[in-house]
Amino acid sequence: MISINGLVKNFGELEVIKGIDLNIEKGKIVVLIGPSGSGKTTFLRCLNVLETPTEGKIQIDENVLDFSRPVSKKSVAQFRSLTGMVFQSYNLFPHMTALGNVMEGPVTVKKIPKSEARKRAEDLLQKVGLADKIDFYPFQLSGGQQQRVGIARALAMEPKVMLFDEPTSALDPELVGEVLRVMENLAKEGMTMIVVTHEMRFAKDVADEVIFIDGGYIIERGHPDQIFNHPKEERTKQFLSVFE
Ligand code: ATP
Repeated sequence: MISINGLVKNFGELEVIKGIDLNIEKGKIVVLIGPSGSGKTTFLRCLNVLETPTEGKIQIDENVLDFSRPVSKKSVAQFRSLTGMVFQSYNLFPHMTALGNVMEGPVTVKKIPKSEARKRAEDLLQKVGLADKIDFYPFQLSGGQQQRVGIARALAMEPKVMLFDEPTSALDPELVGEVLRVMENLAKEGMTMIVVTHEMRFAKDVADEVIFIDGGYIIERGHPDQIFNHPKEERTKQFLSVFE
């Protein structure tokens, strides 16, 4: 269970997240949509504390960070390890193979023996359809393949929730499907996922809940059918009309 209370994030004078409350049950797939600059990425980055929230409380299971008082580096690191983040730009280590990229976190951060980490990395790369590419370096892989390595790498840390920040928006159109399929399979396996995306098809087909964010607030949230077919708010209607 993820619980977010009164989340605020300012960059200097700029108020980007203006007070978000949200509960997400285990195993749910939540898709965040909204116009450019509405705060989706910032919200996601607050959840794994890549951005330090200005105010508010975030909780994953029994782990709580309360930003109304100073939080220690240790508690942030502990909290971050509960989340797996997949970025738009893959962010793989260029000098490591696919296998090396997936093993890195478990070996260096979790101190898991190399042989065990290797076995698990091989399994994860197989799961994302890259069993035949484990010894390839990032420059030898397509964008879609690199992104699938990125997903395997995040999964290797055994997170409780996966956070996806526009994972397909840097990809050529023909490579988007292979990444979305991996995400869909993860969803079917019961992984809790929060996904920022402009892929409305994915939101319609896979999300348990769609959240429309604008101007740093949640404007509307609900089942994909409600949001896409019967939006209540004018701003949601306007935003979605672009995709019709
Ligand atoms: P997009 O769909 O274009 O990725 P978004 O909804 O994810 O947009 P954010 O990237 O969260 O929006 O940005 C929200 C606002 O916060 C923007 O005005 C952006 O310029 C600002 N912002 C984001 N990061 C920083 C930062 N590190 N310093 C200052 N301003 C920032």
